[in-house]
Amino acid sequence: MPDKKFNLKERYELAIVGCGPAGMAAALNAKIRNKDFVLLGQEFCSPKLAKAAQVDNFLGFPEIKGEELRQRFLQHLKQMQIEIVPWKVTAIYPGEPFTLTDNKVFIQADAVIIATGVSAQKLFKGEAELLGKGVGYCATCDGPLYRNKTVAIIAYEPEAEDEANYLAGICSQVFYIPYYQEIKRLDERIIVKKSKVKEISGVTQVEKLVLEQEDLAVDAVFILREYVPAEQLVPGLEMEKGAIKVNHNLETNIPGLFAAGDCTGQLYQLLKAAGEGATAALSAVKYLDGLKGKNQ
Ligand SMILES: Cc1cc2nc3c(=O)[nH]c(=O)nc-3n(C[C@H](O)[C@H](O)[C@H](O)COP(=O)(O)OP(=O)(O)OC[C@H]3O[C@@H](n4cnc5c(N)ncnc54)[C@H](O)[C@@H]3O)c2cc1C
Repeated sequence: MPDKKFNLKERYELAIVGCGPAGMAAALNAKIRNKDFVLLGQEFCSPKLAKAAQVDNFLGFPEIKGEELRQRFLQHLKQMQIEIVPWKVTAIYPGEPFTLTDNKVFIQADAVIIATGVSAQKLFKGEAELLGKGVGYCATCDGPLYRNKTVAIIAYEPEAEDEANYLAGICSQVFYIPYYQEIKRLDERIIVKKSKVKEISGVTQVEKLVLEQEDLAVDAVFILREYVPAEQLVPGLEMEKGAIKVNHNLETNIPGLFAAGDCTGQLYQLLKAAGEGATAALSAVKYLDGLKGKNQ
């Protein structure tokens, strides 16, 4: 059931995940085409846009600050009565319809556009090799596999504390390695290690987490970043050189699933992101109209 705290329905024609220039442009076009859609994002849309000190290559807006452009984008959405629902999507399960979740509540959509940008964070040594062999990105999904075992959580934001608290109730020991300043509501059974991670190691399965000063013997390591890697977000999503593989219509390998913006690979530019967002929305509209025809 959708969370009443957010303005979410149980089902939409289209869900747009990510509220940067790509997601916002997609939403604008979905609105113009009169689709029943939801625009999902994290609290601040978008950090990258705000960080651009001066943008010189956005047609019609010479020498504009990123923050000013961001405000204009948000104002445009407001004018079109488009709301951004602050909801971090942690998994998208393909199907007819797609199911999207934040690990707590679920919504459905007939088509989905991924516009989640890219993360500049590097993978830890051993992360890629041991992914699925003790390394995971969703503690509440995979946690039960490690009942009565020892796990570590590498956390980039306070929201991870809820997942750690859940694991504290089922695992024999939980280590917590925060990559942010202030811990807010961590269960007292959890051992906090304020240290940097050097490596995740193991032969066929995770065996230890190597920190700067010590090694922790663990059965699993959950890495909870702000950005969920696209291939982790959607099971079976085809990637190419670390980006979501799309064609000219911004279709992925999964019917009804589209991608736009930085997440589809270089160039990492505002106009490319916005242009792809618009194209993805129009492709999604065509797909949805096709579905309607099929079901009549
Ligand atoms: C310092 C800096 C300067 C730049 N200068 C320029 C410039 O001058 N000109 C130019 O063309 N480009 C510039 N860029 C690049 C430009 O900002 C990006 O190409 C553009 O923001 C990409 O848009 P996007 O929508 O694909 O992704 P983003 O802007 O990264 O937006 C993605 C959004 O999705 C949200 N999100 C991610 N995962 C989830 C999830 N699982 N659930 C819900 N929401 C999620 C994120 O919080 C974010 O708000 C600059 C970038 C930086 C960092």
